[in-house]
Amino acid sequence: MLPGFTSDLAACGVPAVDFAADVAIRNPYGWAARFPSPLKAYGVSREFLEWRIRQRVLALPGIEVLRGQATGLIREGDRVGAVALGDRTLAADFVADATGRGSRADHWLAQARWPTARETFVDCRLGYATRRYLIPEGHTADWAACYIQPGTPHQRRGAILMPVENNRWIVTLIGFGSDRPGRDEGEFTTFAKSLSTPLIAEAIADAKPLTPVAVSTSTSSRRHHVEKLPHQPANFVRFGEAVCAFNPLYAQGMSTAAWGASLLADHLARYALDRNFAASFHRALARRNDWAWQLATTTDTRWLSSQSSPPAWHQRVGPRYTDRLMANACHSKRTPRKLSSTSCTCSSRPFRSSPPSSRCTASLLRAGKRGVS
Ligand SMILES: Cc1cc2nc3c(=O)[nH]c(=O)nc-3n(C[C@H](O)[C@H](O)[C@H](O)COP(=O)(O)OP(=O)(O)OC[C@H]3O[C@@H](n4cnc5c(N)ncnc54)[C@H](O)[C@@H]3O)c2cc1C
Repeated sequence: MLPGFTSDLAACGVPAVDFAADVAIRNPYGWAARFPSPLKAYGVSREFLEWRIRQRVLALPGIEVLRGQATGLIREGDRVGAVALGDRTLAADFVADATGRGSRADHWLAQARWPTARETFVDCRLGYATRRYLIPEGHTADWAACYIQPGTPHQRRGAILMPVENNRWIVTLIGFGSDRPGRDEGEFTTFAKSLSTPLIAEAIADAKPLTPVAVSTSTSSRRHHVEKLPHQPANFVRFGEAVCAFNPLYAQGMSTAAWGASLLADHLARYALDRNFAASFHRALARRNDWAWQLATTTDTRWLSSQSSPPAWHQRVGPRYTDRLMANACHSKRTPRKLSSTSCTCSSRPFRSSPPSSRCTASLLRAGKRGVS
């Protein structure tokens, strides 16, 4: 969507790590095999990423940014005629909702007497606590980043350490249910020491903290089934987390949102803005989102709280299979290679091409069958 963007990030000093070679990954079965791969992960803070995207978007022709908070939709027959921005209105031929997981679209549709979408959600009560550190001078290690994966039923804690621009580490502690980390700075260190390896605790022991601890618990996976709406305004679409929000542990949200934007561009180029436009876009988006939703929720079902929708069959079987793949990844380089190309949302191929589910090959299925043997 923004050609050359990753080179642009690298030129700004954003570190790139080979996710299979440079990241020390500790799963519940041991250390995952490391090997050179084409899977690059860019260590970039959210504010820096959004600032660079904003600069690139504003440089495109025909873009004007208006500040304001959307508060409703104004109905004109079978269409949306305008968006309410508090006491102002903005006339519109076409409206796209990209307001993220807090989207009020269903509420606005109900107010304008349109049907609202059914919701499925999986809430495994995941919590994040994040702190930034200055990387100590002279720091050396055989890893550039570290990921300690949680695993059921006993390992309810994990952590991620990632280098970002300006010689910093972002350290995120992860916990489920009653193991969710809090914002207390002393507890942050204690939690890091309680993990299955002391690697991150030892790294931050000598590092200068640059921020207080920030906590996030907005982590449930939620899906609005807009593709099933019996009747909807033809010129109003939703994408990104406004339609399908993911547990951030699987790092799918940004890529899936970008995927939705790209699909919308294709749809606008190919189809007339007639009465079926929104319905057909939402059906195509649901098909695209399906595999990411299944990946995230299949693993999540093992942590389920009682507030979630009942699990589907693949969500009951999948976790056992994932365990076997993780065990296999500790002594085989082939399994993590296949696994990462399957779960990686954006491969080096343009992301309009086949979804990763189509790359779930026979060899990966066999690896899962072999498991720990
Ligand atoms: C702690 C945490 C860690 C995460 N880590 C990762 C990760 O590593 N990788 C990954 O891919 N994803 C990650 N995610 C998920 C990722 O942030 C989201 O999936 C992604 O930002 C969704 O993009 P979006 O454009 O749909 O919504 P958002 O990025 O949420 O953008 C919505 C925008 O709409 C604005 N807005 C909201 N309401 C209104 C309104 N009424 N009027 C006007 N504007 C409005 C908001 O201010 C915001 O700017 C993480 C999320 C969290 C919480």
